[in-house]
Amino acid sequence: MQPSLTSLPQTQAFLARQPKMLIDGAWQDAISGATMPVRNPATAEVLCRVPSAQEIDVDRAVAAARKAFDDSAWSRTRPRDRQNLLWRLSDLIERDAQLLAELECVNNGKSATIARVMDVQLCIDFLRYMAGWATKIEGSSVDVSMPQMPNAHFHSFIRREAVGVVGAIVAWNFPLLLACWKLGPALATGCTVVLKPADETPLSALKLAELMAEAGYPDGVLNVVTGSGAIAGAALSRHPGVDKLTFTGSTEVGKLIGKAAMDSMTRVTLELGGKSPTIVLEDADPRIAAAGAAAAIFFNQGQVCCAGSRLYVHRKHFDNVVGEIASIADGMKLGNGLDPNVEMGPLISEKQQQRVFGYIEQGRQLGAHVACGGAQFGPGYFVKPTVMVDVDQKGPLVQEEIFGPVLVAMPFDDIDDAIRMANDSRYGLGASIWTNNLSAAHRMVPKIKSGSVWVNCHSALDPAMPFGGFKLSGIGREMGAAAIDNYTELKSVIMNV
Ligand code: NAD
Repeated sequence: MQPSLTSLPQTQAFLARQPKMLIDGAWQDAISGATMPVRNPATAEVLCRVPSAQEIDVDRAVAAARKAFDDSAWSRTRPRDRQNLLWRLSDLIERDAQLLAELECVNNGKSATIARVMDVQLCIDFLRYMAGWATKIEGSSVDVSMPQMPNAHFHSFIRREAVGVVGAIVAWNFPLLLACWKLGPALATGCTVVLKPADETPLSALKLAELMAEAGYPDGVLNVVTGSGAIAGAALSRHPGVDKLTFTGSTEVGKLIGKAAMDSMTRVTLELGGKSPTIVLEDADPRIAAAGAAAAIFFNQGQVCCAGSRLYVHRKHFDNVVGEIASIADGMKLGNGLDPNVEMGPLISEKQQQRVFGYIEQGRQLGAHVACGGAQFGPGYFVKPTVMVDVDQKGPLVQEEIFGPVLVAMPFDDIDDAIRMANDSRYGLGASIWTNNLSAAHRMVPKIKSGSVWVNCHSALDPAMPFGGFKLSGIGREMGAAAIDNYTELKSVIMNV
């Protein structure tokens, strides 16, 4: 029987309201009145329209965040209050988890069932982890050795202070989770935020803003500007009133944001693209490794920054592992993410779908073969899960981020060969090694040039473990204690007492 594809009445009511953006505690249109459509990628239908912020709207949002940081009750909140507010926010997310999962589903295309247990649950866990940090932000005292008068006495200490107004710009692949990765440390440390969700996926950020107001955050602590990257994102990234920029998105845009930040010495962290290798050693169980490699690339339609999009398999197992992944891919159920049985949804947009087909076609012309998939499915922006073999390590299929359900697979003969090919990339976000040989894994880990290395798992992220990239995959780390460092400044105080 075909399951019902109807979303909750609350989800429908949220969409029917024509969501506005939040500036200084008020739900507002763009001053120009401009709006932009928000689509469901499973059907290509327009779900609603949201304001399309222009520079003047970004100015208003930054001014509200500045006022809240400098003057409001927020600047005087005690760590315990910041902890309690974050915990309260996580409780409200838990209460509305199904609604948030459905918004992610209809706006991004991902499965609502998976969004509930992954995206939304990870937000809840992350905000609770960050709530704990609010009361553990510490400075230190130092005995100084400066040349001094015989009777002089100094008291010297280092304060760790909130960095100020944060401009957060995020991608569309995990709209709510990426927003929470920025908000958690910002709110724990006492910063205020202007959040610019991706053009395609503003809905869960707007719902999150509603929940923050309900949790009791003062006006202006979070402002959400919806709009295009080229206008609203660019205005935010060059805004002199922003103290710190935090960006998750493509390396191409990350470079623009990094350059804009340097002009005003705005603090900046960049979480960028990836082309992460999955390496299957000779001793690995081919079936287990194949299941792991399939999940590593096909989760979230391959639209994961650390997706295992390059597969290196010991030659002995190559045909087996590729055959097994192809049969997993062929058996995946594609469709509308409101159907709880669906394993793979559409890509985010027609543009992204065409980009992925472009890479597959280019690969074919360069001599690669499609082991499975490579074709369209249904009326939405679907691409069947695809595996390509006979690819060139130096070619675009292996070197460029496709950001879709496309795996490129290559054999290797010895471990040094595998490490060399894994590191032969401009990116360095994640890597997984599949093996039962503990000493081989330990010897490989230091040689892999990426911010995360997983053994017998892939894309395993935990709030306590820093996440970020080497090389073109970014600058800085999210999560763990490193996130707190990125949202604070150190102030050295020397008192002649
Ligand atoms: P994108 O870079 O096109 O857009 C990301 C955000 O930047 C959006 O909000 C967009 O509106 C904004 N933007 C676009 N142009 C801008 C400009 N000129 N100035 C300021 N802002 C601008 O990326 P995308 O297509 O939305 O997302 C996919 C990319 O994100 C992939 O490369 C993926 O690897 C990366 N990503 C990285 C991580 C990570 O943690 N490293 C996580 C998720 C996604």
